[in-house]
Amino acid sequence: MVNVQSIRQDFPILQTEVYGHPLVYLDNGATTQKPRQVVEAMVNQYYHTNANVHRGVHHLSVVATDMLEQSRETVRKFIHAASVDEIVFTRGTTEAINLVASSFCQQEMQAGDEVIVSAMEHHSNIVPWQLQAERKGIIVKVIPITDEGILLVDEYEKLFTPKTKIVSVAHVSNVLGTINPVADIIRIAHDHGVPVLIDGAQSVPHMPVDVQALDADFYCFSGHKVYGPTGIGVLYGKREWLDRLPPYQGGGEMIGTVSFEHTTFNQLPYKFEAGTPNYVGATGLAAALEYVSNIGMQAIAAYEAELTQYALRQMIQIPGMKIFGPLVNPQSSIVNCQLSQQDGSEVQCSRGSVISFLVGNIHHLDMGTLLDRLGIAVRTGHHCAEPLMHRLGIEGTLRASFALYNTLEEVDALVAGIKRVASMF
Ligand code: PMP
Repeated sequence: MVNVQSIRQDFPILQTEVYGHPLVYLDNGATTQKPRQVVEAMVNQYYHTNANVHRGVHHLSVVATDMLEQSRETVRKFIHAASVDEIVFTRGTTEAINLVASSFCQQEMQAGDEVIVSAMEHHSNIVPWQLQAERKGIIVKVIPITDEGILLVDEYEKLFTPKTKIVSVAHVSNVLGTINPVADIIRIAHDHGVPVLIDGAQSVPHMPVDVQALDADFYCFSGHKVYGPTGIGVLYGKREWLDRLPPYQGGGEMIGTVSFEHTTFNQLPYKFEAGTPNYVGATGLAAALEYVSNIGMQAIAAYEAELTQYALRQMIQIPGMKIFGPLVNPQSSIVNCQLSQQDGSEVQCSRGSVISFLVGNIHHLDMGTLLDRLGIAVRTGHHCAEPLMHRLGIEGTLRASFALYNTLEEVDALVAGIKRVASMF
């Protein structure tokens, strides 16, 4: 059970007032707020155990190094990786995808080889591949989606050719809330001998993720979207792949020995962590993962599903409302995606806790600005998914995205706010 009132006490920013209204923060898909436990863990490290990691024999450096490696173990456990050697700290999802695109293309792809992405990807899972298309002449192929924003798995299967070398898709769409059938996507790719990268930016904060159960080859996420700090994220990679791929960046930490004639590289995961790592960020991320683990990812998924369902049921009734993404009939039931838990039980999670919408002809920017005047923070625009906007034939949407600290009363405030703004047009 999520005790939302007690959870809210951990997030001081939720007490903020905006234009005289209590803040209703519904922009969690962009970034989440941070609990005291995360901020205090980082402050404590700066105050008491700060030193550069890996290089020192002195006490503080040893402590800081131990903390970094302990954080790596916390991440490993959280996504159920087989080994800490498979956990690479990055700046975030974007850097993780760039790392894979760059190192994988360098090693495994030739001009004319193909990568498969989907029509609902964030720019960070499109542009890194396009950069490789320019540099190496690889080809980017796109899995089409239905008008409701569901991946066409049959069409996906048809995209495979002997030149397909990697598949890279989002677990959950940051615009549509679609939960993609990534286990099937991975199985189909593996049937063709092709590895898969999963962008978990919008899944890891909202549901239990088990990279081994999924059999993902690569999986990445950002700390700041899961109640952790900015500037830290994770790339999980199966050992066999990380061993095979060349380093992404050169510098300190990632080397074995260096001479002007020849340099050897460090063991995993350090081969991919050039320079001083964001070790304080890793401490904050570990504190965040412990925070959500203590509540329980299954409980969080169920609570957010309740919020989302409550919101959809009311929003669908607003005249002129158009909701994007998989939506069946929220009056009776909503799309049910069964999420299998690590213990084998299942939780009903209709879709991701993201609702993109438009009302009548009201421009998303106008409505977003007026909602802000009521203290309601939603995102407006193309959500870094312009190709998806083109597919849907729109310029942008409003997006409300929920987190574990949101309440049913905040959903009511959103619905009342939308109605009030709509009545002004
Ligand atoms: N992928 C998805 C699905 C996202 O929602 C985001 C962030 N909006 C990213 C990637 C990029 O994450 P970051 O900016 O933290 O690297």
